[in-house]
Amino acid sequence: MEQAGGKMTLGWAARDSSGHLSTYIFSRRAPGEDDVTIKVLFCGVCHTDLHVIKNEWGNAMYPVVPGHEVVGIVTDVGPGVSKFKAGDTVGVGYFVDSCRTCESCSTGHENYCPQLVLASNGAGFDGATTQGGFSDVVVVRQEYVVRVPENLPLDGAAPLLCAGVTVYAPLMQYGLNTPGKHLGVVGLGGLGHMAVKFGKAFGMKVTVISSSPGKREEALDRLGADAFLVSRDPEEMKVAAGTMDGIIDTVSAGHPVVPLLELLKPMGQMVVVGAPSKPLELPAFAIIAGGKRVAGNGVGSIAESQAMLDFAADHGITADVEVILMSYINTAIERLERNDVRYRFVVDVAGSLAPVA
Ligand code: NAP
Ligand code: ZN
Ligand code: ZN
Repeated sequence: MEQAGGKMTLGWAARDSSGHLSTYIFSRRAPGEDDVTIKVLFCGVCHTDLHVIKNEWGNAMYPVVPGHEVVGIVTDVGPGVSKFKAGDTVGVGYFVDSCRTCESCSTGHENYCPQLVLASNGAGFDGATTQGGFSDVVVVRQEYVVRVPENLPLDGAAPLLCAGVTVYAPLMQYGLNTPGKHLGVVGLGGLGHMAVKFGKAFGMKVTVISSSPGKREEALDRLGADAFLVSRDPEEMKVAAGTMDGIIDTVSAGHPVVPLLELLKPMGQMVVVGAPSKPLELPAFAIIAGGKRVAGNGVGSIAESQAMLDFAADHGITADVEVILMSYINTAIERLERNDVRYRFVVDVAGSLAPVA
């Protein structure tokens, strides 16, 4: 269902499981009392967008305007808005509303609200399907908007809104922010490279576990990882067995997890954030022996998102980005699908609207 009454918006939508994006004009909701209207400047391309537009999770509600790593400028605020004013630089992530009354919402974990409203391909409380940040404007309640610190470059900051908080929040929650502890990062993509950066900023020993031997040098030299393991090399994996306090698994495709669990120390913590459509295989003895722990994590709360942005600003952390115009988006998505991005595409949305000379 479409919304009526609001501003006509230019977006880019997938119409079917080909995932091909093309222009799509639709109407945003008329801004309410507590709404912030945001002109989108940059929007990151998360692998979740790819899963959704190609209907890999079986939940696409076409037309789908993807995009949930938004950085933009506030152009207007409703009369009830106290957090923001026109001209502020702000961010919007994976979700744009929640019930604000359930246990999760009341305890600062609104990212786990059963009625969470996703930024894109979600069901809004007005019954409309939500459309994401691959569009010139978004309208979001103030509680779900965060402030982007001044010293962060806006293109490199956009991926923090999803990739950044998705790794920062569980590292904090599970004490994997402790100097000297050993963190394994599985999959060196958008999420993975952020985990390396946060892990190093926390003072940890960080080992990348990758299926791409070609990423070894830049993982060590440019991203500052301490070690690099090729997940398909049993000899390399064996040497590191039992050495890690925690592992964050960001892999987007089906993969064996038993060799990863073997890397953990007894009682070590694995956190799953990658969301392949194929179920992971978890034999009981892989976690019983050694009392190993496996948890999932879904993005982070708004407070965690703000804390992550402030931490990133203090430590000069941004994503390594390839900035593109929307005219390149279908090629970018093909490249993302074949693991050919170092490490995040970010669309210059405002630049894509400018008339070509
Ligand atoms: P990405 O940039 O494509 O990175 C995924 C990485 O996984 C790749 O760089 C690659 O790293 C590895 N990989 C890909 N195919 C593989 C295969 N067949 N076998 C082994 N490794 C493979 O994706 P992303 O944006 O970081 O997202 C990663 C996953 O997290 C996606 O499934 C996404 O939907 C999910 N996600 C979850 C949350 C959450 O809240 N839980 C939030 C955002 C995204 P190497 O080349 O180093 O092996
Ligand atoms: Zn995402
Ligand atoms: Zn709730």
